[in-house]
Amino acid sequence: MRSSRRSALWLLFALAACVAPRERRHARVVLCDAGQVLAGDERALAAGRVVLRVEERDSDRDLEAAVATLARLGIPHAWWLEVARSPSLADAHPEHMASLQGHDEWRVLAPDAPRAADGSVLKVHPWVPLTTAEGFELQRARLAARLAALPPADEVYLADLQGAPSACGCGHPRCRWATDYFLATPDSPRAISSGTPLGPEAAARFVAALRPAARGATLIPVWMAECDEADELCHGVPCFAGACWPALARQWAPLVAENERLAVLVLEPARVERELAALVHLERPNSPPIALDRTRLVPVVAAELPGAIQLLTDLEQSFDVRLWR
Ligand SMILES: [Zn+2]
Ligand SMILES: [Zn+2]
Ligand SMILES: [Zn+2]
Repeated sequence: MRSSRRSALWLLFALAACVAPRERRHARVVLCDAGQVLAGDERALAAGRVVLRVEERDSDRDLEAAVATLARLGIPHAWWLEVARSPSLADAHPEHMASLQGHDEWRVLAPDAPRAADGSVLKVHPWVPLTTAEGFELQRARLAARLAALPPADEVYLADLQGAPSACGCGHPRCRWATDYFLATPDSPRAISSGTPLGPEAAARFVAALRPAARGATLIPVWMAECDEADELCHGVPCFAGACWPALARQWAPLVAENERLAVLVLEPARVERELAALVHLERPNSPPIALDRTRLVPVVAAELPGAIQLLTDLEQSFDVRLWR
């Protein structure tokens, strides 16, 4: 009995030794574009799982070919679906683009940007967030059609379920909580809405609304933490201490309640611990307290870190300010 247990143990160790390098290799998850897979990028072809970027610039044909290449190598794929940033919707429905009607400190970054007179509004092109009922339905229909045109995957990441960059007008690209932040300024003397506000449940409802189009895939919301004082990118607006974090908490709470796994778009390796810590334990005035297990969050970062998705490509996050009407 004792000897058979010993040999069983030995067999287990031998097996573990055999599979360990392969398992380690297979644990690595990368986020890349179809072109990298098709060009034979070793970092993608040696990964255990490849998350493929699906932005409007990525063609279905290339994505399909990339999936076929990965399938031949036995590498499972997932989709990284860009939600809010959509040039096609922005051009077809400019009224539903996010607006800049808050602080105007962003102007130091774009001194030549137009000025809005009464009756017109500055828009954040090409961002059409799902935080209004109109943007929600446009994005749901667009992404359901996109998923139907692509081969199935077992996981679909949903990126940019928040507002547009510089949402409060401070100029920080991580301020994402608002679609319309109405402050009366000389530039926006009266509020011009981008649509019917859906409130803090919008992102969670969007994930649920896209589920029928996901063909059984697990949907994984991707979130971005708000601005940090240490960034010094808010150009003097104290938004990190004001509206940003309570607003984020109100939107983050329903997502956390309804989705087991969540990805966090961190980008810079030096920010990982700070941003994850900020999202797992949130207690701010005027907002719901949030406490969740750190292991539910997967950081997306431009470096190879244990437990993270390694970002190998660029994600379009830019915007330009345009006058509408
Ligand atoms: Zn801000
Ligand atoms: Zn902010
Ligand atoms: Zn800020």
